[in-house]
Amino acid sequence: MKCDFRIGNGYDVHRLEAGRTLTLGGIAIPHTKGCVAHSDGDVIIHALCDALLGALALGDIGRHFPDTSAEFAGIDSKILLRRTCDMVQENGYELVNADITLLLQAPKIAPYVEQMRTTLASVMGVAVDAVSVKATTGERMGFVGREEGVEAYAAVLLCKA
Ligand code: MG
Repeated sequence: MKCDFRIGNGYDVHRLEAGRTLTLGGIAIPHTKGCVAHSDGDVIIHALCDALLGALALGDIGRHFPDTSAEFAGIDSKILLRRTCDMVQENGYELVNADITLLLQAPKIAPYVEQMRTTLASVMGVAVDAVSVKATTGERMGFVGREEGVEAYAAVLLCKA
């Protein structure tokens, strides 16, 4: 059967530590804690990259951008997202839409959601209404609720270009 659509889902998690920069959805968010990571620790972008790669069965972000490589130390994850979108294009597909859910206890993310959507859409070269960013707390339960970590889930739909 010939099908022009591919779906993908992605997940990422990072530990939070005091005194680090918190980068989510491609933007810096003022907070007392940030992600411990080889890159900038942007869980939203990492989940999104994994969803895009997953849609095309191209493996995962660790295969394409290994955290053992000095090239990716402290890298702006927007660069990884752009490169992942290039792979999507090279494989003859384009993004229809992406839907992201962030799990973070603090700070409140609502004031930053529109800027995240605009930033992600611009990096991926799609309309802002193709990118959804939603957030929830951990209701004070688990590692998210204790402010020990942050998680993100992403779902994407691609169609043949
Ligand atoms: Mg990650």
